[in-house]
Amino acid sequence: MKEGRVMRPDGTQTRVVGLFGDPVAHSLSPRMQNAAFRARGLNLCYLSFHVTSARLWEAVAAVRALGFVGVNITIPHKVAAMELVDEVSEEARRVGAINTVVNRDGRLVGFNTDVAGVVDALKEGLGQDIKGKNVVLVGAGGAARACAHAFAQGGAGRLAILNRSAGRAEELAGELGAHAPQTRVFAGPLCPEEIKKWAMEADLFVNATSLGLENAAETPLEDPSLLPTGCAVCDLVYRTGGTRLIRTAKSRGLRTLDGLSVLLYQGARAFTLWTGEEAPIGAMKASLKTVYRG
Ligand code: NDP
Repeated sequence: MKEGRVMRPDGTQTRVVGLFGDPVAHSLSPRMQNAAFRARGLNLCYLSFHVTSARLWEAVAAVRALGFVGVNITIPHKVAAMELVDEVSEEARRVGAINTVVNRDGRLVGFNTDVAGVVDALKEGLGQDIKGKNVVLVGAGGAARACAHAFAQGGAGRLAILNRSAGRAEELAGELGAHAPQTRVFAGPLCPEEIKKWAMEADLFVNATSLGLENAAETPLEDPSLLPTGCAVCDLVYRTGGTRLIRTAKSRGLRTLDGLSVLLYQGARAFTLWTGEEAPIGAMKASLKTVYRG
């Protein structure tokens, strides 16, 4: 253990890393990041805060006032928080969403580690090379933005973005155009007809909405038999027992990737941004092990 390090936060010189979201109680980030801080002997503590949209600016101001090391930003604040920090990384600006904030002596810098988290998780979990693949992405919020950029960077052949508010899907598809030279991008409403149209030829089906987060019965895909047998399914939402999307895809024999892998890899990048140290992936993974993967 390096000098000045502790095995547990001692409460006196302990510094805080936060998570702002609504809802936030479901998040396993506190468990995972605190395990990482302990593994590295850092006097840091990760706490989640239930922050409503109306009070987001106050919460961000508190990061400066209270000298937090930084915060993670989650549902539904990833897009709005961009306007409240002092600086945004080039990648996060391109994506249009931040999930990690670093407090550099009172100056807040926003980053997006979800893009790399999605890429790493797909590589590890599915051995999936996205190049030339047909991808169906459900959602157009902060997480979907990161996914869309990850797929465009990976050279997906076709990307269909479907969202409850079709206008947001169209906006994302329009913004993506310039950054997706190899990808034909389409946008549409999240409705059975559109799902059917795109799912039938999908190589990868991804849920980046909050469907299934609070209500276990919800799923963006009522009929997984629409997907071809070679299709892989990824759900950014995670829950004990697995989401309905993941469970039904598994029962059809499809390859699946749950949200825990994305959580792990986006969290590892955030850890390094806050601490300047390599993330203890093993300890972080172990901390998530007790959560049953569906
Ligand atoms: P946002 O609030 O930015 O976006 C929410 C998305 O969900 C929008 O596309 C929204 O559609 C859609 N949505 C919400 N309710 C419904 C509904 N009833 N029916 C259909 N669509 C709905 O949130 P984020 O993008 O930040 O997060 C989305 C999900 O991804 C969350 O569950 C979050 O926990 C998860 N996530 C997981 C990560 C991980 O590490 N595993 C990382 C990042 C996110 P509309 O635009 O119409 O409102």
